[in-house]
Amino acid sequence: MAELPELLILAEQMDKELELRQFQGGELRQEKSLNLPVEEFLQEISGKKILKVYNKGKWIFIQLSDDYHLLLNLGMGADILYHEMGRELPEEYQCLFKFTDGSSFTCKFWWIGRAELLHGPELAEHKATKDLAISPLDDGFTREHFRKLCQSRSQIKNLILNQRKIGGIGNVYIHDILFQAKIHPQKPINTIITPEVDKLRDIIRDNLKKAIKLGGLAYEKDFYGENKGFDEKHFLVAYKEGEPCPECGGTIEKIKTGSTSSYICPHCQKL
Ligand SMILES: [Zn+2]
Repeated sequence: MAELPELLILAEQMDKELELRQFQGGELRQEKSLNLPVEEFLQEISGKKILKVYNKGKWIFIQLSDDYHLLLNLGMGADILYHEMGRELPEEYQCLFKFTDGSSFTCKFWWIGRAELLHGPELAEHKATKDLAISPLDDGFTREHFRKLCQSRSQIKNLILNQRKIGGIGNVYIHDILFQAKIHPQKPINTIITPEVDKLRDIIRDNLKKAIKLGGLAYEKDFYGENKGFDEKHFLVAYKEGEPCPECGGTIEKIKTGSTSSYICPHCQKL
């Protein structure tokens, strides 16, 4: 599943590549992923120009002319791919957006994604995105900000995955983040002392920055269909059940944590 590093990279590539491209038709094959009927969606987006592309949490925001926004949610994951004029399109996709210069991009959602076209005040009222939290790489994600988030009795993993508290981390990068911080995923937050909270905040940012440097997860495609460098050899304990812990040599375990699984070293991360 794409998380913050992959989404940041994708949004940046889209922003650079698509600036001022003008929409002209397309094909929307899955009406249940849309907020408007297919015909109306295509009619409304036609003629609009792309001004800016950015991400917020797990959403890609495409700011358009005439006060419109096209919002894409990658759901459990998606390939959003750019196609130059004349290039053969992939067979499978739910959305194809064409531009006046003959180029286009497609979205293939792995499971269920969303494509929504919003106009004017609809953006500020958009339920799924209006309360999304800032991401750990935003300037506002200071130690003070993170300490405030940590004034809670819930479990640390639940806080980090909560998109209304912290934007963009899912169940991939979190395993190594908590391992490096030597914190058990189910530890109640109010039992973690302040220096450890500060350290955790720094580790979250360092991990995501490192992933961005490597281009994001190797099994996620970028806008140009390339796979990047963050592969299994970069993980410390994630997906390494039964292997030795790189710190203490103990055995890495996969445990159930609510509705998700976690990879931990039970010696380094005591509850
Ligand atoms: Zn260990």
